[in-house]
Amino acid sequence: MKSIAIIGGGITGVTTAYVLARKGYAVTVFEKHRYSAMETSFANGGQLSASNAEVWTHPSTLIKGLKWMLKSDAPLLVNPKPSWHKLSWFAEFIASMPQYKANTIETTRLAILARQHLYAWAEREGIDFDLKREGILHIYRDRKGFEHAAQVSTLLAQGGLARRAVTPQEMKAIEPTLAGDYYGGFYTDSDATGDIHKFTVGLADACERQGVRFVFGHSVDRLKTDGQSATVVAQANGQTQAHRFDGLVICAGVSSRALATQLGDRVNIYPVKGYSITVNLLDAASQQAAPTVSLLDDETKLVSSRLGSDRLRVAGTAEFNGLNKNIRADRIQPLIDWVAQCFPGVSTRQVVPWAGLRPMMPNMMPRVGRGRAANVFYNTGHGHLGWTLSAVTADLVGEVIEQGLPGSTVRGAAPLVPITQGTT
Ligand SMILES: Cc1cc2nc3c(=O)[nH]c(=O)nc-3n(C[C@H](O)[C@H](O)[C@H](O)COP(=O)(O)OP(=O)(O)OC[C@H]3O[C@@H](n4cnc5c(N)ncnc54)[C@H](O)[C@@H]3O)c2cc1C
Repeated sequence: MKSIAIIGGGITGVTTAYVLARKGYAVTVFEKHRYSAMETSFANGGQLSASNAEVWTHPSTLIKGLKWMLKSDAPLLVNPKPSWHKLSWFAEFIASMPQYKANTIETTRLAILARQHLYAWAEREGIDFDLKREGILHIYRDRKGFEHAAQVSTLLAQGGLARRAVTPQEMKAIEPTLAGDYYGGFYTDSDATGDIHKFTVGLADACERQGVRFVFGHSVDRLKTDGQSATVVAQANGQTQAHRFDGLVICAGVSSRALATQLGDRVNIYPVKGYSITVNLLDAASQQAAPTVSLLDDETKLVSSRLGSDRLRVAGTAEFNGLNKNIRADRIQPLIDWVAQCFPGVSTRQVVPWAGLRPMMPNMMPRVGRGRAANVFYNTGHGHLGWTLSAVTADLVGEVIEQGLPGSTVRGAAPLVPITQGTT
């Protein structure tokens, strides 16, 4: 049986582990935290949104970015201090603009396929993750935003997604709790929401039942390969151990770039920080006044998802400031204000703030496939859509691995025996 090490126990690592275990590989997942889904896959916007498949590589993103540069509460913020990483990333971002249409259409197509896998896995494994299939409503306050969205709709349609323009009156009918004046909206009834952390933990349990070994609390320091056999050097409790596998899959979120470099690959992921708040809906009045349909406000770049009866998640903003996860009060406040403005009956007395780093490729397309070495694979760089796309990219990388490293029909994990051991 072929043994595979997956680096990273977020949504991409766990979905990849699930696919590979079912294909008969002996899978080991290395995760530096004590549990799965503790980094970016912890408290995101919750949207399974084919309707948000528009890639950001559009000239309007740059114009908005420059306009917002000096506004601390703007949806997009770039720390002007230059770094080679940031500059090379932005240069590639601009160079990818000619592929804006093609990449938006392809992302839509992938997002639609992803749903089928995700729903089927959740049902098969009995995972409760507060799934709500009530659609996503994009809201616009002015004509300019609405007209751009209409153009995006034509690209989404080419990817296979139907979304319809709705009047302010129809918006009210779709989500009666929404307050304020709007120019119009777009509604995608096939979109959904759910709790990424709950799903990932549930799928990790399912993986364990299939024989996947999770090695928690192990931080991978070094990776080596000769194309046939790969070595993972990991640290835990001051001890360093090396383990050998037939193949490697990198699913390490914003750390994938550094790990890829060790393997001779360039995966130019930049960490794009975002924030979320989870509003605890403590009383019946707040539960009544909170939306059940998911929203995407294109002007403020905020999304909302109802998680169960007693939580409302609001998330958004993009900050280019390196590997920095500080939670800034001046970035959280606009999220709270948005709830107060759009859903005035919801109490924001108890709000849990969070910040996460989107692993973003400059062309906004995930890196899925083989690396330079024949036994190294990537499923990473999903940016703002990792929750939406993870199930399909896991399936895709599984197919690539099967071609490169044929597995077996026997299920289970190989024993984890260190080949070298030392103290750090
Ligand atoms: C504010 C915000 C809102 C978002 N909203 C949405 C949304 O509504 N819909 C959507 O589709 N997507 C959304 N996203 C994006 C989505 O959350 C991410 O794309 C996705 O979670 C990334 O998953 P991942 O597995 O690549 O990374 P992670 O979840 O970060 O997992 C990587 C794992 O690798 C581990 N790791 C890294 N290096 C090592 C190492 N050396 N050794 C051992 N372990 C290591 C980390 O500890 C981590 O657990 C949002 C993101 C943010 C920040």
